Amino acid sequence: MRDTWQHAAGNLNWDTAPLVGGRRLLSDAPTGFDLVSPRDGSVLAVVADGTASDVDAAVRSARAAFESGAWSRRSAIERGRVLIRFGDLVEQNARELALRISLEMGKPVQDALGVELRAVAQCLRWYGQLADKLPGEAPEATPDALALVTREPAGVVGAVVPWNFPLTMTAWKLGPALVAGNSVVLKPAEQTTVSALRLGELALEAGLPAGVLNVIPGRGDTVGEALGRHPDVDVLTFTGSVGVGRRFLVYSAESNGKRVWPELGGKSASVILSDADVEAAGRSTAWGAFYNQGQMCSASSRMVVLRDVHDRAVEAAVAQAAAMAPADPLSGEAPSGAVVSERQLERILGFVERALADGATLAAGSTSRHDIGTGRGSYIAPIVLTGVRPEMEIAQVEVFGPVLSVIAVDSVDEAVAVANGTPFGLGAGLWTRDLSAAHLVSRRLRAGTVWVNCYEEGDMSMPFGGVGASGYGRDKGAHAVDKYTDVKSTWIELGA
Ligand code: NAP
Ligand code: MG
Repeated sequence: MRDTWQHAAGNLNWDTAPLVGGRRLLSDAPTGFDLVSPRDGSVLAVVADGTASDVDAAVRSARAAFESGAWSRRSAIERGRVLIRFGDLVEQNARELALRISLEMGKPVQDALGVELRAVAQCLRWYGQLADKLPGEAPEATPDALALVTREPAGVVGAVVPWNFPLTMTAWKLGPALVAGNSVVLKPAEQTTVSALRLGELALEAGLPAGVLNVIPGRGDTVGEALGRHPDVDVLTFTGSVGVGRRFLVYSAESNGKRVWPELGGKSASVILSDADVEAAGRSTAWGAFYNQGQMCSASSRMVVLRDVHDRAVEAAVAQAAAMAPADPLSGEAPSGAVVSERQLERILGFVERALADGATLAAGSTSRHDIGTGRGSYIAPIVLTGVRPEMEIAQVEVFGPVLSVIAVDSVDEAVAVANGTPFGLGAGLWTRDLSAAHLVSRRLRAGTVWVNCYEEGDMSMPFGGVGASGYGRDKGAHAVDKYTDVKSTWIELGA
């Protein structure tokens, strides 16, 4: 398997030129930066360092496409057809895209293929199928008037996304924005630029008119900021960290007051009550903390467990950690891959060292990098920390790495207080066999999504997003279309 993937990797083209107006442009960027694969530290490409003038060209192209009506005024069912074809093309090109993602950010190639790209294709088709099923309203008015409440596309949407599920996050923005008739300018994360550019090319191949989707490579503080401040962007949809999300609110306030939809980080708790299936709870909570090398906004990074079942839950989590040791992402069977970069590796291990100094105990993993035999690449074996207290840094700050913190509690009320005791509110898990407890406790958990007796389950119909410091934007589901549309009221005097 590894040989097949490695052979295919050798044949990839890493063109990083911006995609504007339906063509790959030569950027006026004077320089570029190295795209380093965390798999082995090799340089995959030099990424064009996009500029504010690239962003301006892309926004102008998006605006012209929008005003032309080639997409914005096309019938909904035809827009739907293009999105469905786009999903089909993603499926047909999934192996190439998976390989790029795996090399770019280090996740196991079979996860990129079977989880991420499957989700991308599904998302694009789901919105495609929704296209002609979005109703307007005709409220009862007076007998001599017709009142209509309709939704109009907002115009030009800026989308800025992270690298952890690079194309899934992108599809969650593109599906609802495009189905509503908008034009989009996408700024991918630096690490995952080339997979995003390939996705943009597939959109064109599916029949999206030129200029409706533009992709600009480059850095956050140049391309991202230029998009956030552009006076002709109507909506800015963002997934990423809390700090950058809040910057977009400032960019908006200091430019044209564009609508900003932040979907930010988390410190999600999985709460295990005494009557739960404790082994399943421990295993699943650990899986939720370690999957994608722990680089999940909704990672179950805290296990909040009733003291009488603590030891059994920890035992199951430690076994899960052992089952998810990292290996070469291109092997085709690695349970875990590399974390995104050396910088991130050092940051994660720094959190763990401080947690140990604060009094936590290492139940699985180590404070050193994990060697997978090549001696290169950024690998960390899954880490379980016990004896964590709710106020410790490790229990309050998003680590974004494979680290599970276990917090023992003495009552259900204490469990709820600890679970809710961070500024975040993205996801929460709850494990119990008691139907009433499942309802009562899940209502009290402050989170955009609560998973009962599972973690990270769901489908496209379920909105995803948070409360509090996790932001307020929602991706997925029909609700997401609202982010990219404006409500219009039309009152028609009938003169009867
Ligand atoms: P990040 O540092 O906030 O970056 C996200 C995006 O913003 C990237 O495209 C980045 O560009 C850009 N950016 C960085 N600095 C900027 C600036 N000053 N102005 C404008 N744009 C800027 O986050 P990340 O490290 O890529 O991703 C991890 C974070 O995403 C975590 O906090 C995670 O919880 C969150 N996340 C949330 C969700 C959700 O649905 N709620 C889902 C996935 C991830 P560069 O790459 O060029 O720096
Ligand atoms: Mg970044």
